[in-house]
Amino acid sequence: MSTDVDKLWDLQQVVSQLSDREEQLNIKPDSFAAVDREFQNANEEMQELEQSLEQISKERRSVDGELQDQQELLKKYQGQLMQVKNQQQYAAAWKEIDSTRKHVKELEDSVLKSMAEADAVQKQLDERRGGFDDLKARYDAAHAEWQSSLGELRSEIEQLRKKQEQIESGLPSNLLREFRRVARQRHGVAIVETTGDTCTGCRTRIRPALAQQLKRGEFVTCEGCSRILYLERSAS
Ligand SMILES: [Zn+2]
Repeated sequence: MSTDVDKLWDLQQVVSQLSDREEQLNIKPDSFAAVDREFQNANEEMQELEQSLEQISKERRSVDGELQDQQELLKKYQGQLMQVKNQQQYAAAWKEIDSTRKHVKELEDSVLKSMAEADAVQKQLDERRGGFDDLKARYDAAHAEWQSSLGELRSEIEQLRKKQEQIESGLPSNLLREFRRVARQRHGVAIVETTGDTCTGCRTRIRPALAQQLKRGEFVTCEGCSRILYLERSAS
């Protein structure tokens, strides 16, 4: 007949194995990790290129708007030129036209520059997209291969979970709560073996009175680390 402490000990073995297997489930094998890195990099790169295209087109729209305004202004000044009444007005109108034309020219240059920039970025993006289907296929294949290799591990995890439930259902709920509380605080390890009246979790010595209780199979926790203590088998 196993005591509650024995059951807690068994539960700890199952819980520790479970957390180890679950960790293994997330470790990417080298065969997948390489293509995964390549895939993530390509995605990031394409995202950056798309953002930069968007930024160029945003700037372009604002320059286009300003260019339109300046062109209209230029038309207005050219109209005014027809209505000048003297040399002084003529000179003034010309001055306005001249400076507006310069401004229009600058804006047109800026439009050309941004078109060239957009073309260059678009070209890079097209190149990236061109190779992407192939990369995606390699990524998917490596991922599927990795996942299918985990079948054994998954069924092992399933069995461990069943075992965990089974042990837990045979334990009083207050003990189970205590087990879980200590496990949360102590990196998943709620119960530890003793060795020669010492806690193997924190090396605290167990007082003789507690050691006696432990020998009687009672529920004892370590005064150093609060873990539940399990009497080493050779001593029992
Ligand atoms: Zn301890």
